[in-house]
Amino acid sequence: MTDPTPPQAAKPLSSMQKALRKLGLVSPMDFALHVPLRYEDETRITRLVDAPPGEVVQIEGVVTSSEVQYRPRRQLIVVVDDGTDVCTARFFNFYPNQQKALSEGNRVVLRGEVKRGFMGCTMLHPSFKTAGGELPDVLTPVYPSSGNLPQAYLRRAVQAGLERAGKSGWLTETIPQPALQDLQQQLRQPPWPLAQALQYLHHPTPDVSVAALEDRSHPAWLRLKAEELLAQQISQAQARGERAQLHAPQLPLRVGGLHERLLASLPFALTNAQRRVVEEIAQDLACGQPMHRLLQGDVGSGKTVVAALAAAVCIDAGWQCALMAPTEILAQQHFKKLLDWLTPLGVGVAWLTGSQKTKERRDMLERIASGEAQLVIGTHAVIQDKVQFHRLALAIIDEQHRFGVAQRLALRQKMQGDQQEPHMLMMSATPIPRTLAMSYYADLAVSTIDELPPGRTPVSTLLVSQDRRDEVVERISGQLAQGRQVYWVCPLIEESEALDLQNATQTWEELSEALPGVGVALLHSKLPTQEKKDIMDAFVRGETGVLVSTTVIEVGVDVPNATLMVIEHAERFGLSQMHQLRGRVGRGSAVSYCILLFATNEAGKLSDTAKDRLRAMRETTDGFEIARRDLHIRGPGELLGARQSGSPLLRFADLEADIVLLEWAREWAPRMLAQFPALAQRHLERWLGSKAEFLKA
Ligand code: ADP
Ligand code: MG
Repeated sequence: MTDPTPPQAAKPLSSMQKALRKLGLVSPMDFALHVPLRYEDETRITRLVDAPPGEVVQIEGVVTSSEVQYRPRRQLIVVVDDGTDVCTARFFNFYPNQQKALSEGNRVVLRGEVKRGFMGCTMLHPSFKTAGGELPDVLTPVYPSSGNLPQAYLRRAVQAGLERAGKSGWLTETIPQPALQDLQQQLRQPPWPLAQALQYLHHPTPDVSVAALEDRSHPAWLRLKAEELLAQQISQAQARGERAQLHAPQLPLRVGGLHERLLASLPFALTNAQRRVVEEIAQDLACGQPMHRLLQGDVGSGKTVVAALAAAVCIDAGWQCALMAPTEILAQQHFKKLLDWLTPLGVGVAWLTGSQKTKERRDMLERIASGEAQLVIGTHAVIQDKVQFHRLALAIIDEQHRFGVAQRLALRQKMQGDQQEPHMLMMSATPIPRTLAMSYYADLAVSTIDELPPGRTPVSTLLVSQDRRDEVVERISGQLAQGRQVYWVCPLIEESEALDLQNATQTWEELSEALPGVGVALLHSKLPTQEKKDIMDAFVRGETGVLVSTTVIEVGVDVPNATLMVIEHAERFGLSQMHQLRGRVGRGSAVSYCILLFATNEAGKLSDTAKDRLRAMRETTDGFEIARRDLHIRGPGELLGARQSGSPLLRFADLEADIVLLEWAREWAPRMLAQFPALAQRHLERWLGSKAEFLKA
């Protein structure tokens, strides 16, 4: 079909190929899997009288008049009569040959949206062709494209890729018969072969239920999604298998060892949940295969002490342990706490951070290299090249979702010698929803602390509009009068760190004035490290009543006497971020509050997602529920930080909607590896190609 806009000068092929590459289209499978965004129906002609308004249709008729007018722009006005009605089409850019094709007496097919007004039927800029050609018998695909890549070109390229994929055997069956039978039972219909499914998705017949294509419930879609999930699960199962072949230091639990002495010296008893996860970790550490375990537990559930106990087991066996946290403040808190717990027991603890003085840093590096430092705590500085461990056996990563794959790999490589791998314990307060745990993290063992230490009272959460700010200040006074402490968090304004700071400074001034004599401190990321540390310390000691801060306090700080958390411009925060912040209060036995101060836009409205987030915060304090809703609001991509982790996301399947397929894939992946290894490999290559490596980190 001719496009009425004049053709542009033909570009050299290479720029087209570059554009294809930019879309990720290189191998035949890439093309075959580049499925259409939507379809256009060019298979039928609609009578003008029947043309529904607002829908794109094709009409066919005779040109009864064709003239160029200037009113005020040069335009070609063409009237077409199809026997049921007449339609006036207007073209602004046209070439003489196009004008000729549209001259009086010619029979043409126009494609576009029919509008009805006092001028009768009109079409603006329809595409057209001379009538009499054969109509296609399948829908025309419209592909995701980048700006300058014409659909016609893309269609040919995809078609060619699809054919090449078929000819070179990429589309032959890789799913063994029993797995297909099982899939048939799950779906209550025979699964389509992949080649047929792809052929259909690229060129569906016009009788298809467009709704089934759009909501991806069509059998062709089901096949594609089952394939994709299976590839993902095979890759995970394979990584798990490979890890089981590797060796790691055996770190047995010793009766009367450091671990027991630490337990005895703690000022509290472990919760049942903590005891259970400590046991799970200890079993992994003892068995001589590298541990790869995620410890998840809501904010305040007591993950730090579990980490300390794991470290104790490692150190007791004569090895070193590294603990890495995403921010300096958090790393420092860990350092202080673990120093308190472990130095009395004779453990050497070292501290590493980017802002350290050269001499101090050199000392630390020496102590780490000699093995005198048995536990090394720090920020990203821990994984830098210069850091040489004497005998690293256990790496603990707090708030693991803040780190990317590359950083986790770097930590693994800190292990001395090639023969062994370190054990990895990753901790997170953002619990992974079940479907994600089954898919992306299928290679991780998961321990969950599902119980808070005794004596905590749930935080009550209030939504307060910005214009009731005064009441919030009153409430702060109330808490301070009871000897409590308060956090006030100001949002990060993405475009401007300076504005961000200005906001926080303003709030600080305002509160200092409204609350004289209680000590209002301001903490933000621009402060020198030592000053930040001093401000935090003063707050921990209870010397300041209110801590105004930008989001630097986000993770991990622990001040049980703080009972009120105010989050300003809460509408700008992410859900799990707010949940983490709220976790800073409610750490002691006193009743605690979280006030979400929100501002509406000029129209007095909140965005839908902001509303969803605030509602979720008010309705639940359960971290699992929060994570589930976050997944729903944001989609898994963001939750995983996919861009930084580089892990290929699911393109076709949806974890929530396709749980049946996910479960099927999860069951069959290890069985395929065991019983049909060649098929499993072929399936993986078809789906992941070179991307497979990423999934293993
Ligand atoms: P998170 O899981 O958020 O990292 P922390 O490890 O910071 O939580 O623990 C929160 C607080 O609870 C700390 O003050 C910690 O000492 C305390 N805590 C941890 N376990 C227990 C327990 N079993 N009983 C009482 N307090 C505990
Ligand atoms: Mg923590």
